[in-house]
Amino acid sequence: MTTRRAFICSSIGGALAISAAPAGAEIATPSLPSPSPPQAPIANRAPLSRQPLIGLPTGAIKPAGWLRRQLEIQAHGLGGHLDETWEDVGPHSGWLGLDGEAWERGPYFIDGLLPLAWQLDDDVLKRKAQRFIDFTLDSQRPNGLIGPKGSDDWWPRMVILKALTQYHELTDDPRVIPVMRKYFQYQLDTLPSRPLRDWGMMRWQDNLVSVLWLYNRTGDAKLLELAALLQKQGYRWRDLFSDFPFTNPVYPSAITVTAALRATDPTGMPDPAQSAHGVNHGMGLKAAAVWSLVSNDPQDREFAIKQLAILDEYHGLPNGMFSCSEFLAGRSPSQGSELCTVVETLYSLEYALAVTGSALLADRIEKIAYNALPGTFDDTMWTHQYLQQPNQVKCSVSTGPWVGDGPESNLFGLDPNFGCCTANFHQGWPKLTSSLWMASANGGLTATVYAPCEVKTIVSGVGVTIREDTDYPFRHHIGIAVEPESPVTFELSLRIPAWTQAADIKLNGSPLHLPQSGGYARISREWKAGDSIDINFASTPRAVEGHNGSISFEDGPLVFALPIEEEWRKLRVQGLTADWEIYPKSDWAFAASAHPVPKRVERNVGDIPFSRRTPPVLLVIEGQPVPDWAQQNGSAMDVPVAGKRAGTLEKLVLMPYGAPKLRLTSFPSMEQKT
Ligand SMILES: [Zn+2]
Repeated sequence: MTTRRAFICSSIGGALAISAAPAGAEIATPSLPSPSPPQAPIANRAPLSRQPLIGLPTGAIKPAGWLRRQLEIQAHGLGGHLDETWEDVGPHSGWLGLDGEAWERGPYFIDGLLPLAWQLDDDVLKRKAQRFIDFTLDSQRPNGLIGPKGSDDWWPRMVILKALTQYHELTDDPRVIPVMRKYFQYQLDTLPSRPLRDWGMMRWQDNLVSVLWLYNRTGDAKLLELAALLQKQGYRWRDLFSDFPFTNPVYPSAITVTAALRATDPTGMPDPAQSAHGVNHGMGLKAAAVWSLVSNDPQDREFAIKQLAILDEYHGLPNGMFSCSEFLAGRSPSQGSELCTVVETLYSLEYALAVTGSALLADRIEKIAYNALPGTFDDTMWTHQYLQQPNQVKCSVSTGPWVGDGPESNLFGLDPNFGCCTANFHQGWPKLTSSLWMASANGGLTATVYAPCEVKTIVSGVGVTIREDTDYPFRHHIGIAVEPESPVTFELSLRIPAWTQAADIKLNGSPLHLPQSGGYARISREWKAGDSIDINFASTPRAVEGHNGSISFEDGPLVFALPIEEEWRKLRVQGLTADWEIYPKSDWAFAASAHPVPKRVERNVGDIPFSRRTPPVLLVIEGQPVPDWAQQNGSAMDVPVAGKRAGTLEKLVLMPYGAPKLRLTSFPSMEQKT
């Protein structure tokens, strides 16, 4: 098979080619627009269907507490410095009008850098993002096309459009709406003769997100024509899942497309290199939900839940993700998940959460964001992996168990295996922050995903500030202060996670006995300055059964893993950062018992929330060595059924999955018979 790099280059006509910038090319320091004052969220305009939850404008939610420290770590790491050390988004970028990389990497970077900069109110980072925005807004061609010259691929423009929608919510810049209108007219005129293909065909829903965003602001009926055209040309995700073909790991031998296959495939595009591709699946999880706003079909609306269940059944991993070592890769906890897939799955579920209101999707967002997301960065966020493994006992140059990726895939570095994740990871934490609270369809507010933050919004014409003070997910207590500028009546909804045995909710110190419906408790009243809510979610640490009868351990939204002592070996310097291998210095091959119930030990939340040096919470369990469980090709062999045990029973101290970079998450169960 071709490598992914060759595959992508061939599919975009070599647009990735990078050459030196013209001598003397300089980029002016842009001026920054003022932030928009708090705005009421904008509901769907008819005939689009009504959503139970509506995203608050980007910038309405600011991180606090540990989440702010995490975003600051990102800003001080590659998140805020990538352009200084990686040519692909550097000063010669095609997305700055020069002759550097002109495909997806500039837009990916800005899609996360922009909200990060504004959430931290960091002018240096705002200016970095502003240059890309200014180029995009000021260089539109007379026919409406935006973006670098020399490439007209639809796909990277789908990403920069998402950045433009966030930018408009942050600044009200009057250039944005006319540029988007003109571009979408160009798409409407041009798509019939130059239809969606390859990546753009699979990811059409990301284009549709911005089309519907604009429709809600302009009411231009032509945008609904464009929506229908995108859906007609786009990949039919629902068809794929109606008779799901990828029930086993998809090896390169399956990545063969014949004309006969293409003619008979019901989806119209049987290329498994695209339809089994992990990142496409992450993005495709929102396809039916986005389209449901147009189709008004309840099956579309709920389809993400079915899609997730099918992915879980055949490819689910204990960190909340599905495996994809380029292509869907089965349920072995030694398999990998690509970082792009982690952040795209999060974004898709955040969108689908608003469309469906499903509290279960919010549970899943937390599981991925509080485990798989931090689990694939080092403490400083100067390095990341392409692939992370739940059972990750060594990170080295090895072939690994990957179905389609290269030998550097689980290194920690600048751009191990391939640079898409280097450009794309930036959206993970900032977009999670933007999704912590949403407006309810009845005009109230909903706490959707829990983390420390401050919300400023408008409810029934009244300015309302919400302060959420919590160390969740490391603790299960949440304090919420409600500060309206004047008394105002609305319903405040609180998500009740499915894992809790009891939700103890107090209003101004008095217990409330609230009926729960659909995974939410709802408080309707006149809110006054000084009102406060206290929530305690009861949680008992639990053993969860997985692949080959293995068990993993969870408490609240956190997954726990056995940390393996790590020896970091520098492989090569990479500009301001470096590529690293990690070798194990302690035993990792253990079986574990679900009994007795794991003992929970709490410690302070450190400056680095997910660090093995200062884990905020531990679980103590009992385990026993499995001496025959070995490594193969640089990874743990698949978790054995039961496993032959030897030696004495030991206490094993687990920490949050995101903290250690070498870890064992799925254990052979000591209760299981061989
Ligand atoms: Zn990637």
